[in-house]
Amino acid sequence: SAALFESFSERLQKAMSFIDRGRLTEATVREGMKQVRQALLEADVAYDVARDFTKRVSEQAVGDRVLKSLKPSEQIVGIVYRELVALMGGDPDSEFQPSSVAAQIGVKRDGVTVLMMCGLQGAGKTTTCGKLARALKKDGFAPLLVAADLQRPAAIEQLKTLGEQVGVPVYTEDPANSTPVKVCQNGVKEAQRRGDVRVVILDTAGRLGVDEDLMRELSAIDRKVGPDAAFLVADAMTGQDAVNSAKAFNEALELDGVVLTKMDGDTRGGAALSIKAVTGVPLKFVGTGETLDGLEAFHPDRMAGRILG
Ligand code: GDP
Repeated sequence: SAALFESFSERLQKAMSFIDRGRLTEATVREGMKQVRQALLEADVAYDVARDFTKRVSEQAVGDRVLKSLKPSEQIVGIVYRELVALMGGDPDSEFQPSSVAAQIGVKRDGVTVLMMCGLQGAGKTTTCGKLARALKKDGFAPLLVAADLQRPAAIEQLKTLGEQVGVPVYTEDPANSTPVKVCQNGVKEAQRRGDVRVVILDTAGRLGVDEDLMRELSAIDRKVGPDAAFLVADAMTGQDAVNSAKAFNEALELDGVVLTKMDGDTRGGAALSIKAVTGVPLKFVGTGETLDGLEAFHPDRMAGRILG
């Protein structure tokens, strides 16, 4: 995401000094916004999203109030900030308040909250399940991990290892004698039997691409287990592909949130900027490393601040 920050703030500064140098007219604002749009496209933001974004900023920036103000560039940067926050699903008027992992998930006040995690193979789903379990445990919300990926035997072992690392129980069944729906149902029962569990995390199967078979399996879990929330884990490095897979999963499952992994890598960051605008699903967490502490709650206002530098 460093690339996104650099390109965006560089281009915005260039555009603003251009605006401050000349006479501020509709034409100079539009020229400045071209730079901003270019920065968004370079970050791999979808074309429509970038175009609508700069259109909204331009409309506000050519208003009387800004044209007559002493420091038009400052006002325009303010507008860009507000629009960035709104683009990512935030409220630019609310005061920044960091929220807990439990709040981002929507953990209920009482009883067991069931969180279904899905995503394509390699996106970082199983790792993210471990990260969430670790964070919840730390905050006093005892989690239970459920190994519902019966496709790959290695997936069950991987989750067991993660569970051991973070000291969280993992519910498993023999894949030869079970189904994904059964494992999830029995996992929830196990959580209720234990009594102290607050959050059940279902680690479902992934595939290499979005396919009907996968969607059928996930829909069956969704219908028969009735999770309280469903999150998609997507790889930020895949840019617009991550956004497109979120669209497809959302149509099948009505997602409650997205986790974008590998934000520590060489991503251009466009997925983080456009996923809410394109899919309507909010970004809840970002993965910031391979280790189990590499997880951050996503806050649109904080992200907008970082983008503007
Ligand atoms: P799954 O197939 O979706 O369950 O993916 P895994 O959880 O097995 O992760 C696939 C690879 O991505 C592993 O090598 C993880 O260590 C790596 N990974 C997951 N999340 C992150 C992240 O936030 N940052 C980085 N750099 N690597 C990650």
